[in-house]
Amino acid sequence: MIKLCKKRAFVFVFVFLCATMAVVPIMAQHVQTIAHRGEWRSEGSAQNSRTSLQRALDLNIFGSEIDIWLTTDGHVMVNHDAKYQGISLQDTTFAACKKLRLSNGESMPELKHLLKILKKSKSPTRLIVEVKPHRNPQRSRDCAAAAVKAIRRKKLEARVMYISFSIEACQAIHALAPKAEVAYLEGDRAPGGLHRMGLTGIDYHISKFKAHPEWVSEAHQLGMNVNVWTVDSPDDIRDMKALGVDYITTNEPALCESIVK
Ligand code: MG
Repeated sequence: MIKLCKKRAFVFVFVFLCATMAVVPIMAQHVQTIAHRGEWRSEGSAQNSRTSLQRALDLNIFGSEIDIWLTTDGHVMVNHDAKYQGISLQDTTFAACKKLRLSNGESMPELKHLLKILKKSKSPTRLIVEVKPHRNPQRSRDCAAAAVKAIRRKKLEARVMYISFSIEACQAIHALAPKAEVAYLEGDRAPGGLHRMGLTGIDYHISKFKAHPEWVSEAHQLGMNVNVWTVDSPDDIRDMKALGVDYITTNEPALCESIVK
C-alpha cells in the first residue's frame, strides 16, 4: 500500500513538473510592442512629440520610445536627429531650442514635459529613453546623467527604461541607477560582455538578429531582455515573434499589437 502511494506521489510530481516546464516557455514568448518615437503616424501627431507619447499611452502598449539630446546649458531636448532646422541641439542653448516647432505645430518638448505627461497617466506604457551619442563620450555621459536626475526627481524610475548606441552612456546610467533597465543598441556585441557590465538588455536592428539569432537565447539565459528595431512589416513582426524576442520596436504599434497578441 505504502509502495503504491509513493508511486502515485512520484507520478503526480512528475506530471506537475512537466506541466510547469511546458507553461513557462509559453509565458516567456509573449511579445510586447514599443512605439518608435511614439505613435506619430496618425493625423495631428509628430515624432517625439507630446501627442505621439499621449497616443502611445492611450494604446496601453508596453512602451513608447523617445530620443534625447543635452543642450550646452543642461536642458534635455527630445528629438531624433542631431540637427533640427539647422540647429545642432548639443551645441546650442535652450533659448534657441524653445523656438523650434515640430511638424504638428507643437514646440519641441524637453524630457521634463514628457515625464509630466507620463506621471499624469494611468497607462501601463513605459517610456523608453534613448540617450543619443553626443560629440564625445563625456557629453553622452552628461546627457545620461541629466536624464537619470530628471526621472528620479519625478519618481518615475519604475516606468522608464534606457537605451543607447553609446556604451559610455549605458555604463553611466548603470553606475548612477544600478536598478535601471539599460539596453545597448549598436548590435556589435554579444550579450555576455554587456551582462558583465551590468546591462540588462540588447536592443538591436533586425539585421543583427538575422545574422546572430543565437544572441536571443544567449541573452535570455543571462536573464537579459531582447528588443528589436525597427520592425514595421507583418512578415518581419511574425519572424521576430517566432525568434522569441521580448519587445518589438515599431512605427506601426497598433498593427504590431494586433499581430503579437
Ligand atoms: Mg531612437
